[in-house]
Amino acid sequence: MPPPAAREKPILGIDLGTTNTCVAHVRNRIPRVVPTDKGSLILPSVVALSEKGDLLVGAVARDQMVTNPQNTIYGAKRLIGRKFSSKVVQELRSYYAYQIVEGPQGEAAVKLGNRVYSLPEISGMVLGHLKKMAEAFLGRITTEAVISVPAYYNDNQRQAVKEAGRLAGFEVKRIVNEPTAAALAYGFNRGLDQKILVYDLGGGTFDVSVLQLSGNVFEVLATGGDTFLGGVDFDNRIIDWVLDAFWEQHKVDLATSPIALQRIKNGAETAKIDLTLIPNVTIDLPYIEEKKGKPLDLRMPLSRGQLNDLVQDLVDRTFSICDRVLEEKGLRPDQIDEIILVGGQSRMPLVQEKLLTHFGRPPRKGVHPDECVALGAALLGDSLDKIDAVTLVDVLSMPIGILGAQGRMRRVLDKNLAIPATRSFRLPPPREPGQPIELDIYQGESDELVDNEFLGSLRLPAAATGRRIDFKLDEECLLKVSFDDPEKGMREVSFATRDTPEVLRRAVAEELARRQGTPQPGREERRGGGLFGWLRR
Ligand code: AMP
Repeated sequence: MPPPAAREKPILGIDLGTTNTCVAHVRNRIPRVVPTDKGSLILPSVVALSEKGDLLVGAVARDQMVTNPQNTIYGAKRLIGRKFSSKVVQELRSYYAYQIVEGPQGEAAVKLGNRVYSLPEISGMVLGHLKKMAEAFLGRITTEAVISVPAYYNDNQRQAVKEAGRLAGFEVKRIVNEPTAAALAYGFNRGLDQKILVYDLGGGTFDVSVLQLSGNVFEVLATGGDTFLGGVDFDNRIIDWVLDAFWEQHKVDLATSPIALQRIKNGAETAKIDLTLIPNVTIDLPYIEEKKGKPLDLRMPLSRGQLNDLVQDLVDRTFSICDRVLEEKGLRPDQIDEIILVGGQSRMPLVQEKLLTHFGRPPRKGVHPDECVALGAALLGDSLDKIDAVTLVDVLSMPIGILGAQGRMRRVLDKNLAIPATRSFRLPPPREPGQPIELDIYQGESDELVDNEFLGSLRLPAAATGRRIDFKLDEECLLKVSFDDPEKGMREVSFATRDTPEVLRRAVAEELARRQGTPQPGREERRGGGLFGWLRR
């Protein structure tokens, strides 16, 4: 059989990460990572405004984080596509040193200097930088891309990533789920018949998916995760420990100094990463503070065993989530044939040891946790216009529903539903007689609206009461809605507004007020507790 013709236009596979971004392309049927202009294989997903007013992207932006934290945007992946008023964004506002503000459509946006930027603009700058790097490396203009997103990303987030790609000058051919891309990098063209588990512990989030591989058919069986469990939580445990010890030693609270805190953050992460390779390290930060005009140095030895004690429960939580996902499909850990690791934090020896005891087998070596998602995205991109090259059967990771009785969510599309899929129901009458029918659409696991993400509102003619409405998910897990219009027949309808409805604004405000009303822990209690960790992110 002659080899398949090379693509006319090169297509990039991009893993747009919380911490780092990685880009790959396929050449002679082999996927490869494109090195950055600094020779590294990953680009920090950081955008900053320098003191001189220049916009910086990547390593140079990250390097000025200590001295200019208010103008350094990191972790954009957690904000993109979210409403400003959503619970997640309101909580994240206290984590980050930079300003998170409300954009014109009620979405979360960020401030750099005097200008407000949308999150797609920020991620678009990272993608635009990658595009230039890739073009310089490949010696060709590249306009097509497949971009990966976490499996749990909702419709708004997927749309926002597509928008970021467009702003960077890409035609985004496909949005693919990260675990599915990782599975592709592992199993593409290998003729496997296996059940695999993708364990993805990254900088900010934990994601787990179970897939059935049958030749080049990749079927996601179940997926789950925690959007607030990742490497940064491990760092925070070390930071808490350092702050505690320093307080004990000097009665100085380093948490009150943003620069000291940023240095401790960097020191904690470096120590954590070094402890993956060596059993003992020292966090050494000279002249961290002054007391009565005298410099104070911070010097603390930390062993791998101590680190394990600090983060044991975080690692255990990932395994509870794995068990839950397996149970949903009636599977036992010993029925998994291979474990694929994704995300930098999965390199930690404690994680690897626990994987071995939990699943009875070591994780698969040879799949690079930082690169496999981009490589898989590139393979998918390369195969897109080739008939039957690869079949992906993905699932919806979070239910989609409408505002039902008593402010609760009525589910229309259920979790783990294989996509593409369509679910239909009959339209209810308008809330007020003589008014259009209004449907508020939400996505999330909870029955309580406040915990879910608002996707948008539909406004339909009252005459359509009792007629059919279809909620359709395409292969990118993007939602399309059509309804049976009494005058025009079945037709697609777009959101009348994506502005958050009053009911959700009120619910979030009440929830936040309730939290602020709960007694705050005192200094000593806060020391070891999670609240400090929260504030520091
Ligand atoms: P990612 O989002 O996949 O880029 O993962 C980044 C996270 O992985 C950060 O929290 C890093 O501190 C962490 N990380 C990277 N390399 C290592 C390592 N060798 N050992 C432990 N954690 C690591």
